[in-house]
Amino acid sequence: MTTILVTGGAGFIGANFVHHWRKVNPDDGIVVLDALTYAGNRANLDGLDQVDLVEGDICNTNLVGRLLRERGVDTLVHFAAESHVDRSITGPDAFVTTNVVGTHSLLKAAKTAWLDSGTGRPHRFHHVSTDEVYGSLDPDDAAFSETTAYAPNSPYSASKAGSDHLVRAYHHTYGLETTTSNCSNNYGPFQFPEKLIPLFTLNALSGRNLPIYGDGMNVRDWLHVEDHCYAIELILKKGRVGEVYNVGGGQELPNVAVIEEICRGVDAAFAADPDLAKRFPNAPAANGGSSLELKTYITDRKGHDRRYAIDETKIRGGLGYEPKRDFPLGFAETLAWYLAREDWWQPLLRRAAL
Ligand code: NAD
Repeated sequence: MTTILVTGGAGFIGANFVHHWRKVNPDDGIVVLDALTYAGNRANLDGLDQVDLVEGDICNTNLVGRLLRERGVDTLVHFAAESHVDRSITGPDAFVTTNVVGTHSLLKAAKTAWLDSGTGRPHRFHHVSTDEVYGSLDPDDAAFSETTAYAPNSPYSASKAGSDHLVRAYHHTYGLETTTSNCSNNYGPFQFPEKLIPLFTLNALSGRNLPIYGDGMNVRDWLHVEDHCYAIELILKKGRVGEVYNVGGGQELPNVAVIEEICRGVDAAFAADPDLAKRFPNAPAANGGSSLELKTYITDRKGHDRRYAIDETKIRGGLGYEPKRDFPLGFAETLAWYLAREDWWQPLLRRAAL
C-alpha cells in the first residue's frame, strides 16, 4: 500500500488515471492536487471512494511539500498542465507558468521531502509529457523514439519540453527517482470538448460545423486514455528509474480519417437508436442526412505540425505494454460514453459557450 499524489487529477487523463488506479490498487491512498482551471472538473471524480481532492496550484511549492510530508506520499504522478495547443498560440504565458515553473515547483518539493529530509525512502516522480516535444515528421521519417532530438514547435510543446528537461536534470543532478512518458493524442471519457474528438462528436450531434484545419491531412497517433493509464501503471510498477518511455496507440491516422470515423459512428448510432433523433433533432442524421455534410475546411493552425508517430519498441519490449483497442473500437466506446453522459458535457458547453 502506498499514497499517491496525482496532479491534474480532475482533468481528462488525470481523472481517468485516478479511476484506473482506484480499480487496480483499491487500498492505496489517493490525493489529487488540481487548480480546477476551465479544464478541471470535480465531477470527473464522482463516485470514487477515498479520493481526496485538494484545490490548489502546483506552483505553490509549500502546499505541495506539505501534502507530500503530511499525507506520507511516496509516488507523485504529474498530469497538471495547460494542454491545448490553440490556447498556447493565443496566450503562451500560462503555459510557461504552469508547465515549466509548476513542474519545477513540484520537483523542488519532491527533492526536499524525499531526498533532503534524509529519510531515503523509495519514491517515484512520474512526469506525463507529450510526443509533440519531438517536433514534426515528414511522411517517410522514422517514428519518434526516446532518443529522437527535441524540436518543439508550439509554445505548448516548448513548455512541455522545458518540463521534461527539468525532470531529467533533477534525476541526473540530485538522484530524484523519476520516470517520464511521452504519449500521443489521447481520447476517451471525460475529455473536455475543445479537443478534436469530443468537439467533433458533440458538433455532429447538434448539427454544428466540423472545422478542419488546412487540408485535414495532419497525421497523429491515437491512444485510448485507458490504454495510456495502463501504460503509466506499468511504468510505475516495472519501469526503470531515470528512463523515458514513449507511449502510443499504434493508430496513425490523418485528421480526415478520424473525422470520417466520427461521422460514420454518429450516423450509425442514430440508425440503431431512433430515440437519438428526438434527443438531438438538429443532427443531420436525425433528418435523413449524414454528419459528413458538416465538414468545413478552415485556415490552418499557425505552425501546425504535419505528422507525429510513436516508436513503442522500448515500452512494448521492456514492460510488455500493448494497447487493447484500435481506433474504431476505442471511438465506438467513447461515443457510447458521450451519448450516455449528456449530464456531464451539457453543463460544460453552457459554461464555456463552445
Ligand atoms: P487537461 O487540460 O484535460 O487537464 C489538465 C488538468 O490540470 C486540469 O484538471 C487543470 O485544472 C489542472 N491544472 C492546470 N493548471 C494547474 C495548476 N497550475 N495547478 C494544478 N492543477 C492545474 O489535460 P489532459 O489532456 O488531461 O493532459 C494531462 C497531461 O497529459 C498534460 O501534462 C498534457 O501535457 C499531457 N498530454 C496530453 C495529451 C492529450 O492528448 N490530451 C497528449 C499528450 C500529453
